[in-house]
Amino acid sequence: MHAVVGYRRGRSEPPTAERCESEEDLMVHGSCLCGGIRFEYARAVSEIYLCHCSLCRKNSGAASNAVVVVPEDTFNWLSGDELRQVYTKPTGWSATFCRTCGSPVPARMRGATAYGVPAGLLDDDPGARIGCHILVGSKAPWDEIGGSAPQFLEGLRTPKAGK
Ligand SMILES: [Zn+2]
Ligand SMILES: [Zn+2]
Repeated sequence: MHAVVGYRRGRSEPPTAERCESEEDLMVHGSCLCGGIRFEYARAVSEIYLCHCSLCRKNSGAASNAVVVVPEDTFNWLSGDELRQVYTKPTGWSATFCRTCGSPVPARMRGATAYGVPAGLLDDDPGARIGCHILVGSKAPWDEIGGSAPQFLEGLRTPKAGK
């Protein structure tokens, strides 16, 4: 787990009268591309996970997705409930997205009391940094993973890739 000291605080908007300064600092805010879906969560979250599997590649359109795992009880939807749409594959794997702009949006994780929050949606600096890469065993042939975060061939409990 990375230390949370010394991060730069990002702010999408100046503090307002309704929201006190200390509360603003404690919460990380995020939104989809069109801004219709907005959410927040308590800042005490540790790391960003990058999954390089084929499903996450299609869902993100990129080499990997980037997800912050947020305990359910610290997560709040702020707007856009009616815009959330879920696509579920026959296998049960699902993707939740904004009906208007198509951005992937936070979704409850299967078998966990937590939300998987797409890190690219965050409007504030979450303080978290990349913790590890998973499913690198099925990464795209053109994907060159940089940085020093550990890489796992499958999930967190499987052997690390030879790097
Ligand atoms: Zn949207
Ligand atoms: Zn994946």
